[in-house]
Amino acid sequence: MARYTGARCRLCRREGVKLFLKGERCYTDKCAFERRSYPPGQHGPQQLRVKQSDYGIRLREKQKVKRMYGISEKQMRKYYEIATNTPGQSGHNLLQLLERRLDNVVYRLGFASSRAQARQMVNHGCFTVNGKKVNLPSYLIKPGDIIELREKYRNNTQIQENLETVIRRGIPSWLELEAENFRGRVKSLPTREEITMPIKESYIIEFYSR
Ligand code: SF4
Repeated sequence: MARYTGARCRLCRREGVKLFLKGERCYTDKCAFERRSYPPGQHGPQQLRVKQSDYGIRLREKQKVKRMYGISEKQMRKYYEIATNTPGQSGHNLLQLLERRLDNVVYRLGFASSRAQARQMVNHGCFTVNGKKVNLPSYLIKPGDIIELREKYRNNTQIQENLETVIRRGIPSWLELEAENFRGRVKSLPTREEITMPIKESYIIEFYSR
């Protein structure tokens, strides 16, 4: 399926939650969801009163997470297959796989202001993992991996501003940032408590296993 190229704020309004798809703007009062927190379209406000079926609730949860991480249906299903074939809780395994994507880690470390920007930077080969250039956004990082911005991109003012912002806001406890060296380290894989977004992962597992 082709990647969605329409208005991203519509996705937040559709899912009824802020997905933080637009970087800095999401933290300001220009956020479309803050202004109109009902689904887009002519009948959007009425949809809030419609009771969703069990299937509908699970579908929306899956769509929400897919849109949050900016991945395709095919990739999502692949992560589900891996998560259910790995020991441990399938829902937590699924969230861990999503968090381990290189584009997500670049975003979490604060090099990029959104996952879309992080994906573009990774695609352009801006980063190394353990000293080797990696330009695959879906690359899965492991504990102990070092993610570093390559020398020639370090003067980029946008990246420097992004890092200044993240220093103020903080990064997840499973990551470590050395902003002065443009380097981050993965201390461990995230526990369920460290993944703080409002996600009901069991609904996603139920959606695919139905
Ligand atoms: Fe969503 Fe960000 Fe748009 Fe707000 S500004 S609706 S959080 S993408």
